Amino acid sequence: MPVGALYVHVPFCASKCSYCAFYSHAPDGGTVNRYVDALVHELEMIAGDCRPRTIFFGGGTPSILTLAQWEKVLEAMHRLKLDGADEWTVECNPATVSLEKARLLRSAGVNRISMGAQTFDEGLLDRLGRVHSTAMIHKSFDTLREAGFNNVNLDLMFAIPTQTLEQFEQSLSAAAQLRPEHLSVYEVIYEQDTPMYEQLRAGKIDANEDLACEMYDTLLERAAAAGWHQYEIANFARHEGDAPLGLPSRACRHNINYWRGGEFHGVGPSATGYTGGVRTRNIANTAKYCERIERGERPMEETEQLGALARAGETAAFGLRMNEGWAFDEFARVTGFDLNQEWAADMGRLVEQNMAVIQSGRFRLTPSGMRFADAAAMEFLR
Ligand code: SF4
Repeated sequence: MPVGALYVHVPFCASKCSYCAFYSHAPDGGTVNRYVDALVHELEMIAGDCRPRTIFFGGGTPSILTLAQWEKVLEAMHRLKLDGADEWTVECNPATVSLEKARLLRSAGVNRISMGAQTFDEGLLDRLGRVHSTAMIHKSFDTLREAGFNNVNLDLMFAIPTQTLEQFEQSLSAAAQLRPEHLSVYEVIYEQDTPMYEQLRAGKIDANEDLACEMYDTLLERAAAAGWHQYEIANFARHEGDAPLGLPSRACRHNINYWRGGEFHGVGPSATGYTGGVRTRNIANTAKYCERIERGERPMEETEQLGALARAGETAAFGLRMNEGWAFDEFARVTGFDLNQEWAADMGRLVEQNMAVIQSGRFRLTPSGMRFADAAAMEFLR
């Protein structure tokens, strides 16, 4: 069976945000054109084994590609029969959205945009090193609507150094006024080798865990009040239509595939993939990535065949990020393992601590367990 999910990494950003540990760098000279040619070749390499129902162009900043570069990528996607997905997302930075580009993407079959707003406070945007203003978020959002996008995600962050609860509430209100179909809200993480991590280590900024908890509680309240249903620790979506609410209808299918342990191809520098029980990672260096592909070689720097139990443990851990948790029968179907045997003691401990419940053939975290899902998930790794 061909793989049904495709991730494409576009490794360019106008400048580096102070908290970012993703592989991305400034575009220079002919690098972007060289990357586009290499990417098209890599797509040719995987096309025979890929019929994507979901596609995600992330980065980096995919919207930084010019119209001509996008045309080349989209033409290749079409020629290789990689287009036509049920859900096709492209990440955009508010500083690099134009009506022409948005229309081009929409006409090629892109039907979902994920836009990084992060905060609606100018001072905090500066602190994060974002290249856009609050006005640009509003303008780009309107542009996306004008181009026909009716499925838009906004990314926000909380626990940004110096951010007050009021500032976070204002950002949530501003996001609610735009009425995007989806909202992703992440706590700032101090990743090694980022300027923000160095500032924390040097004592120039503080991490306030109590305030972060208060912000997360506020997020849950405000998101529910604005009509977004939480379906994962950091993800909220609208639910439309009459179908009973299991997963909200605007939930991101591509990410759900990751959390449910599904296969996916990853192309572009630093992209990870998971196919046939093997996890891969492409080389995280754009020049070396291009060289490898120009020599006709696959650009992977790591491949790892996980044991079946280790993989099942990871799948359990990822799935617990979702409000639905795991149905026992679904977990057994996906992984071949029984949660009630291998992980009975771990589940029991979490239930005792009120971090999780077992209900209707399902194991899931409680709202307080969700707040510490990463710690809970560690229990399941083997
Ligand atoms: S725009 Fe996104 S990928 Fe680029 S530096 Fe900022 S956070 Fe990282």
